[in-house]
Amino acid sequence: MKIEKSKSLFERANNSIPGGVNSPVRAFKAVGGDPLFIKSAKGAHLYDEDGNKYIELINSWGPMILGHANELIEEAVQKSLSNSFSFGAPTKAEVEMAELITQMVPSIEKVRMVNSGTEATMSAVRLARGYTGRNKIIKFEGCYHGHGDSFLIAAGSGVATMGSPDSPGVTQGTANDTLTAPYNNLESVVKLLEQNKDQVAAIILEPVAGNMGCVLPKEGFLEGLRKLCDENGIVLIFDEVMTGFRLAKGGAQEVFNVKPDMTTLGKIIGGGMPVGAYGGKKEIMDFVSPSGPVYQAGTLSGNPIAMAAGLAMLNYLNDHPEVYSQIAKATEDIEKGYQDTLKKLGKPYTINRIGSMISLFFTNKKVTNFEEAKSCDTQLFGKYFRQMLNNGIYLAPSQFETLFISTSITADIVGQIVSANERSLKVV
Ligand SMILES: *Cc1c(COP(=O)(O)O)cnc(C)c1O
Repeated sequence: MKIEKSKSLFERANNSIPGGVNSPVRAFKAVGGDPLFIKSAKGAHLYDEDGNKYIELINSWGPMILGHANELIEEAVQKSLSNSFSFGAPTKAEVEMAELITQMVPSIEKVRMVNSGTEATMSAVRLARGYTGRNKIIKFEGCYHGHGDSFLIAAGSGVATMGSPDSPGVTQGTANDTLTAPYNNLESVVKLLEQNKDQVAAIILEPVAGNMGCVLPKEGFLEGLRKLCDENGIVLIFDEVMTGFRLAKGGAQEVFNVKPDMTTLGKIIGGGMPVGAYGGKKEIMDFVSPSGPVYQAGTLSGNPIAMAAGLAMLNYLNDHPEVYSQIAKATEDIEKGYQDTLKKLGKPYTINRIGSMISLFFTNKKVTNFEEAKSCDTQLFGKYFRQMLNNGIYLAPSQFETLFISTSITADIVGQIVSANERSLKVV
């Protein structure tokens, strides 16, 4: 595989961009080697600057659920282009977008558009604090909620109590307000609530975690959190930036039938454009400025081109619920193929899957939380990643990520993925 152009672009990039990339995981640091510079993509395939072709299993970390350069979305964007790119004033598309979201995700009665998942979670937590008049939040180890200060907190070992900042630049003051608990562990949440009585504004989590690899909620976990929030006057926030419009029209909350008070959205909602949203109960959302006292704003929020792309995407998903069974079936077939290979090769690794989200963990332990995910052999994953790349499969460059299957992954492509996986596992 020739990657000279990518290599030379990365050298140039390093002179003018920190680490050569605009978001850290893109740099391939966890797997070794230099990142590929992507030139274009269509359907299930990516093409890099050197002209190599790859089967795409990241899909821009989720958004491209209908595959790349989908005609419907392209058309919607093109139609919108000639009306100018931005007004900073209300538009019809924003109203249509809000109505569509509240229809697809029934727990959302009102919604505010922002420009990224990070903005959505930061705003949701500020609102929960303003609404409850409390300062602290509980988050779970291994859940990612964007790069807002409050979320960059590492869990302590054992029963987590006070957080400590995960990144220089996050103050201890901020960290003190973020309590952390192991995912899937209700008892530790109960303990935190006892130790911080009437101080917790919100519990925020990925209802299916995707940012420590794919980790499913145990039976009763989401229901248990719902109950604890009800009993203690706490705002339950589902961060569905990844799972929203991915696991079902109504996201993970539809699949597991648990209603949060607030939901954060991103990724698929923009059809590939930079869009996020946060919404929930009217009573809470009406606390946002200008109807309420909690300030939140955005010059480019609800941008007309972004709304055109997002509306085309969501309208399609709303009208074609069969998409979800189609991508779940393709992902199930990949899982089956992987399981057969693991058995054949006598490798006892763990696979987690739900719908069109799947992770192969290089550990023989079950993975139900971050501690268990960290038992993976990440060196081995790095080798496997590079083998898969050589076999034409573009995976997320980290063990702690989920793969996303799009509607462009046909049965034939599933076969190619499964056999590339077997060839790769044989030699690592
Ligand atoms: C990607 C992601 C975010 C952050 O979204 P950005 O658009 O990258 O800021 C937040 N929460 C979850 C669950 C995510 O997967």
